[in-house]
Amino acid sequence: MIQTLPLTGHCPRCEADARRLAYQRRYTLKSGQEVRVLRCRDCRKTFCDRFGTAFYDLKTPEEKVRRALHQGIEGLCPEAVARIEQVHPTTVQRWVARAALQAQAADQKVITHVTTENIEWDELYSFAGAKHPDEAAGDPAEVGQHWTHCAMARESRLWLAVVVGPRTEESATKLVEDAAQRLAPACWPLWSSDGWAPYVTAQVLVFAVVIHFIHPKRRGRPKAPQVVPDPRLRYGQVVKERVGRRLIAVTRRVVFGVAELIPLSQISTTLLERLNGTIRQHIVPLHRKTRSFAKCRTALETQTLFFKGYDNLCRPPGTLKGKTPAQAAGLSDHRWTLRELLTYNAAVTSKIP
Ligand SMILES: [Zn+2]
Repeated sequence: MIQTLPLTGHCPRCEADARRLAYQRRYTLKSGQEVRVLRCRDCRKTFCDRFGTAFYDLKTPEEKVRRALHQGIEGLCPEAVARIEQVHPTTVQRWVARAALQAQAADQKVITHVTTENIEWDELYSFAGAKHPDEAAGDPAEVGQHWTHCAMARESRLWLAVVVGPRTEESATKLVEDAAQRLAPACWPLWSSDGWAPYVTAQVLVFAVVIHFIHPKRRGRPKAPQVVPDPRLRYGQVVKERVGRRLIAVTRRVVFGVAELIPLSQISTTLLERLNGTIRQHIVPLHRKTRSFAKCRTALETQTLFFKGYDNLCRPPGTLKGKTPAQAAGLSDHRWTLRELLTYNAAVTSKIP
């Protein structure tokens, strides 16, 4: 006898609605946890309710995996976590990779249609493998100096996009593209960054519009169409002048938009620099002068993506009165637990908005 449960998830194989999932049987793991087996009426596949989550097919008790991941995301290096939980460091890294997939899926689903007045963006220096690798060191896309580029919505402290890679125009363009995709269609915020020149090119590339000129009724060739930044785009830069390590002057300038309508005090990256501090604290390879630097770019990216989901959905910053950035932006009605983030892709999850 198949009985239908009031589920709020979806089929992890064919995305069918939860109402198409039917309960079949249950079994108990060694750890005492009960696992339900479900069957989808659409794709006719059977799977357990841990399918697609960070815990699927792991022999280690769920609680231990969750605890290890929590220790890692709060700034403990993988070796330390491995010693506390008495597992191999590689095992911890494998768990982090699973967690990153969950966090990414949840983040992509929830952090969308964001409305904000200001976006700040910047990048954090770090390296993978070696700061100055020789040619035999391996793939230059993986080893060497890599920056963590971040874009943040100022009011809600929502982390919109992150790109881990070399400090190039491509990385900057990808960051702007990713951040713009998370915005609501009618949202045209003021972008603020430091004075790095490729940022301007990145903005033009992403927000370009083509102007076609009307052919005049006189002789001669028609004027060729022109590519210009969208007139709704507003972008300002904070340029800091330093002598040695000492800051001597800060100038703010409007790059795109009507200068008279943009108050210069609005152009700022202060709050993102505060987030950078938090990021360095929580993502172990980004600690200063650490021996736990990332061994390849992918490892750094994995940790960063995990922390992005955790920071947006689970971790309230000090300034938002106990709310997470997703709550502050009105995208989630509650503070997510770490377990909720790790089981996001499950057939049965409790609180998907
Ligand atoms: Zn299905």
